[in-house]
Amino acid sequence: MARAMRCPACRTHSLVERRVENRNVALDLCPDCKGIWFDAGELAALLPVAARRLCVPRDAAPSDRACPRCSSPLRAFHYPGTQVTVDLCGKCGGLWLDAGEAAAIRAARQTRAQARTSPRRSGGAAASAGGVTTHDWVDVTLDVLGYVLEALLSGL
Ligand SMILES: [Zn+2]
Ligand SMILES: [Zn+2]
Repeated sequence: MARAMRCPACRTHSLVERRVENRNVALDLCPDCKGIWFDAGELAALLPVAARRLCVPRDAAPSDRACPRCSSPLRAFHYPGTQVTVDLCGKCGGLWLDAGEAAAIRAARQTRAQARTSPRRSGGAAASAGGVTTHDWVDVTLDVLGYVLEALLSGL
């Protein structure tokens, strides 16, 4: 249960578990490269949207990184509307963000929100049957947890 998870990015360090204040969730962070692993199971308990089926975009390419949880190859894709590449496990639904990617996505989203008068084009993340896209899932995750991420990382 408490088996150490190897960092998928730098591959040398074990991830360190950090509990999120006032939330019943723990994130796994790399003390070296500062990447963050979001466990789908933990997030599902916290975020209703994360409990729905996660959809890996069609254009996602197999990454050379392995899921720290289930060892499946992670799938890499550009987060819609950004140049940020995120890694998602299509098997267990976990999400890996490299250092700075959460901030980069949030910054890009703020820019997009300001220009939201134009209709959203179809074609980024493929919609799942429940209508929840990976895009939505990541958005909500970052909204809920974003403000604590910096504090967690600075505490490493
Ligand atoms: Zn690392
Ligand atoms: Zn996995």
